[in-house]
Amino acid sequence: MDLLRTRADLDSLEPRRRQDRPLVLVPTMGALHAGHLALVQRARELGDVVVSIFVNPTQFGPGEDFQSYPRDLERDLDLLRPLDVAAVFAPDVGDMYPREGGVTVEPGPAARGLCGADRPGHFRGVLTIVAKLFNLVRPDIAVFGRKDAQQCLVIAEMVRDLDLPVRVIDHPTVRESDGLAMSSRNAYLSTEARRRALGLSRSLQAARDALVGGERSVTVLRETIRAGLSSTDEVEYVELRTVNDLAVPTLAEGHLLLAVAARVEPARLIDNLVLNVDASGVRDAALLDDVEATR
Ligand code: AMP
Repeated sequence: MDLLRTRADLDSLEPRRRQDRPLVLVPTMGALHAGHLALVQRARELGDVVVSIFVNPTQFGPGEDFQSYPRDLERDLDLLRPLDVAAVFAPDVGDMYPREGGVTVEPGPAARGLCGADRPGHFRGVLTIVAKLFNLVRPDIAVFGRKDAQQCLVIAEMVRDLDLPVRVIDHPTVRESDGLAMSSRNAYLSTEARRRALGLSRSLQAARDALVGGERSVTVLRETIRAGLSSTDEVEYVELRTVNDLAVPTLAEGHLLLAVAARVEPARLIDNLVLNVDASGVRDAALLDDVEATR
């Protein structure tokens, strides 16, 4: 496993680009957990894997946790070594952003609402770093986690609209045994806060159960989720949207995203379910149909 610390080091990927196997990028901010590792394993099935580890300052707002975000490169490398990763790209901020105030990527409609409303500028920072990583690493495929559902949609929209030559795949959310979605930010939680954080996954599960029981009222389903979030400190949003255009449907049917964000001090946590709901029942679904720009 090669450790690449600068953009110049990426030249060492050149021989791999000339091989038949696809080059697959898994972008992360480090503090790796089993969710990240599942993405890496999926990527390994698809080709030669490059994992990027970079805590991207431009996607953090003022007062957010950029400074305190957990960083432990040695531990991350130890976790990746057994997974047959070709290279880890872990640049520093100065190498990725040599000057301030440069060109950024403006997100499209998928960034409106949900986290886009609560975190102004967040998706601009995400798209800017993802576009830079795509251009530097030049992967054939990139794997992202469904846990950050809106991020997947915003990135897929960029790939489609800017004709970027990469295929984007979303991987299912990996959860702890009690249902809590794995997140690097779970490290901020005390034992007591972790217990209260279960409200996110449990409330979504309650909505899923209601859907299985035949409930199709968007209002009732959102109230079901909201009631389940009473253990959290502050609910930022509870949304039931169509995946296709993030519209609020009249009835909870079709390809749906049920998404929540809440504060469980000192963390801001998100979780979601992606479901297909039709006359034959309720099934877990992928977010993206293999987004690939026409080359
Ligand atoms: P992060 O390091 O939090 O920026 O996440 C890096 C990638 O891992 C993103 O594509 C996330 O969506 C994904 N990810 C984070 N947590 C999980 C999880 N619990 N299950 C699946 N993917 C995840």
